[in-house]
Amino acid sequence: MLQTTSLDMPGVREVRQRTREGQRYYIRTFGCQMNAHDSERIAGLLERDGMTPTETVEDADLIVLNTCTIRENADTKLFGYLGSLKRHKLANPSLRIAVGGCSAQKQRELIHERAEWVDIVFGTHNTHRIVDLLDHVDEWGPVTEIWDETKPETILPSGLPVQRESEHSAWVTITVGCNNSCTFCIVPIVRGPEISRRPGDVIREVELLVSEGVKEVTLLGQNVNSYGRDLDLNGRKPLFADLLRRVGQVAGVERIRYTSPHPKDFREDVALAMAETDAVCEQIHFPLQSGSDRVLAAMHRGYTARRFLEKLEMMRSIVPGLAASTDVIVGFPGESDEDFERTLEVMEQARFDNAFMFQFSPRPGTPAATMSDRVPGEVVQERFDRLVQLQNGITYERNLEQVGGTFEVMVEGPSKRDPETATTRTRGARIVHVAGVWEPGISFPVVITRAAPHYLVGSPVS
Ligand code: SF4
Repeated sequence: MLQTTSLDMPGVREVRQRTREGQRYYIRTFGCQMNAHDSERIAGLLERDGMTPTETVEDADLIVLNTCTIRENADTKLFGYLGSLKRHKLANPSLRIAVGGCSAQKQRELIHERAEWVDIVFGTHNTHRIVDLLDHVDEWGPVTEIWDETKPETILPSGLPVQRESEHSAWVTITVGCNNSCTFCIVPIVRGPEISRRPGDVIREVELLVSEGVKEVTLLGQNVNSYGRDLDLNGRKPLFADLLRRVGQVAGVERIRYTSPHPKDFREDVALAMAETDAVCEQIHFPLQSGSDRVLAAMHRGYTARRFLEKLEMMRSIVPGLAASTDVIVGFPGESDEDFERTLEVMEQARFDNAFMFQFSPRPGTPAATMSDRVPGEVVQERFDRLVQLQNGITYERNLEQVGGTFEVMVEGPSKRDPETATTRTRGARIVHVAGVWEPGISFPVVITRAAPHYLVGSPVS
């Protein structure tokens, strides 16, 4: 069941009459957690206006596409999908189609040009305006509203209702945008410079979530380690480590996670805050991207492989039992066989529990898209297969190491394959299947009885 959180304060925000009672909305989300969380906010705003969700395009009065530009073919896919929606619009002219997110931010003119049946194009910082934009369409016709990257007066997500996917787990945005310039990444262009939410706003949202039954929060930002650098709290800048400790003091929060840290900005104070704050899980997603210093420099990542491994080691020594995952890009322009061998070596040394591995795909608008020394596709594929094989072996070995151990798990819900088995997660984010029907959100200790390549099996400790 979806859950609604609203931070509206009577007298602070004007309460709008519900005007779309009985209408149904369908949201399709592409891309990252930031987009998924934006979709939750869009759903919250629509439901506050009286709408209910539907799982099918055919039943919808409103279709929202929350888009992503992460891959080279993302735009092709978007226009293909928009093409498939044309017949729905022709059959039902009162159907509204809205396109938001990163592609909308970047392709603003092109969307109306190539898909004139789209009613609303809205940018990455215009999600809060969705209901007003629907009103505008009813009265005036198609509309485009995109924040101006040259004047970054960003609307932070405080105060927006949120329609959550889970009753016990929620995302909490702590920063939007990014001040880095990784050459493969479109985020600084489509999401703008980094802006931090004030710690009090973050804490207030977490408290509200807990009062509604949330037990696990994931703090979200493109680079959480630079949180607070843009704030001034009576002459002091709040640090991410301070924020972790403060969130950990909210009564009722059982698990705190965060994503993503940036290796160049990760410092010991955050590892200490993790170790000293009971609710902060022993888990980190630490994106390596490449094991070659030459490639890391071309990516503008701001660290070397050695420095990366030192920081990982520092974290593991301070946070016992830390589970670590990473991202790796294979075939970045100019990556030689030797560079790739460095990546394999670092992956072997790091022994990540899990890795998200990608083949380089140029995103138009990024510096890497214009780099000339592209690696041939068959070479990228061959390297990618080797990396996946190496990491699959490490992941399985790491899973085998857990057998016989006892871990606290939190129930996510019934397993997709077997409703008589629950899918649960350890604090290290490992999936553990446990026989029986268990209420989502409850926690209990299990002993791990079996390891598979990508999951564990456990039984409750009696
Ligand atoms: S840190 Fe780099 S990869 Fe991450 S959002 Fe910023 S520019 Fe993109």
